[in-house]
Amino acid sequence: MSIYRGHIGILGGGQLGRMLALAGIPLALRFRFLDPAPDAPASDVGELICAAYDDPAALATFGEGLDLVTYEFENVPAAAVAQLAPQLPVFPPPRALETAQDRLFEKQLFQACDIPVPPYAAVSTAEELQQAVNRIGTPALLKTRRFGYDGKGQVPVNHPSEAEAAWQQVQNVPCLYEQRVAFEREVSVLAARSRTGEIAIYPLVENIHRNGILFISRAPAPNAQHLQEQAAAYAQRVLEALDYVGLLAIEFFVVDNQLLANEMAPRVHNSGHWTIEGAETSQFAQHLRAVLGLPLGSTRARGHVAMINILGTIPAIEQLLALPGTHVHLYRKAPRAGRKLGHVTVRADSVDEREAAVEAVLKILEQ
Ligand code: AMP
Repeated sequence: MSIYRGHIGILGGGQLGRMLALAGIPLALRFRFLDPAPDAPASDVGELICAAYDDPAALATFGEGLDLVTYEFENVPAAAVAQLAPQLPVFPPPRALETAQDRLFEKQLFQACDIPVPPYAAVSTAEELQQAVNRIGTPALLKTRRFGYDGKGQVPVNHPSEAEAAWQQVQNVPCLYEQRVAFEREVSVLAARSRTGEIAIYPLVENIHRNGILFISRAPAPNAQHLQEQAAAYAQRVLEALDYVGLLAIEFFVVDNQLLANEMAPRVHNSGHWTIEGAETSQFAQHLRAVLGLPLGSTRARGHVAMINILGTIPAIEQLLALPGTHVHLYRKAPRAGRKLGHVTVRADSVDEREAAVEAVLKILEQ
């Protein structure tokens, strides 16, 4: 395929799809999205096929004339990928998608790659949950194996007496019972592997969550140089184990200065939005390079960077834009409590300057 005529299909038309297309347009790539929402944010930057992901006729129309298919969220039904995969290259590989859709498979992959994880047990009955509580203790979290994100599908179990109510709350679906670890902080690594096998790894990112939703990312993560090599080795093992192509994010807890893997996302990730202005190559451009088999770009951070999510309501944009070194991204989504509506990136030459900029942004977001 000549990249000069590259036509890329993306399953999902949310903000991640929108930012992928924005990164691909400078390379003259064209984009088609499949999304059930008629006003999907990506429809501004490519053709939108508005249909359910499991609609066979829509999938056939979606696939027509494309060079390859990728996706921008991990709950794409396996059946959609199964229909497209025989006729088109699908990246990241379907196995990565299946693994990331199930917290148990994900943990098993980490363990197979010799990556430490918090103590956990798979539970599918009330009796198994009781055994897990006895073995792992409390505090813990009961997490549904599938369809959990941003803290959804998670119930805290702070005392053994709460286990039964937690089981009712998740409505008897297969779960993981996972020890609540007293982490020092949360970090993530973004890594890419190209169709050629080339690998590129970004500096670690430190993430701060609010109500289970990512709020602030700082990159490079402060005082994390000693964790970088370990994170890079772990990411490389996962990329190679899955014969992965594209951008991958892995989230970790830092406990006693060691990394414990929490989960992975087989796609561009919110903790990588800082790379648009803050790295030599954005995660979106990197993902496109990887799936097209092009040389990967430098992952070097351009100074000290932070990304702050705009959640729930649209702040005073003029005030944000008036701050020097501040970049505002809006996804054209309707405000709703906790919803990711956009993000703000600040880039500075020193940590102090970056922190002052973060403070100034937070003041505007919180007024
Ligand atoms: P997740 O959906 O697994 O990414 O969880 C969302 C957030 O809940 C994480 O970013 C953590 O802040 C918190 N969390 C999840 N699992 C654990 C755990 N085992 N111990 C402590 N906090 C956790």
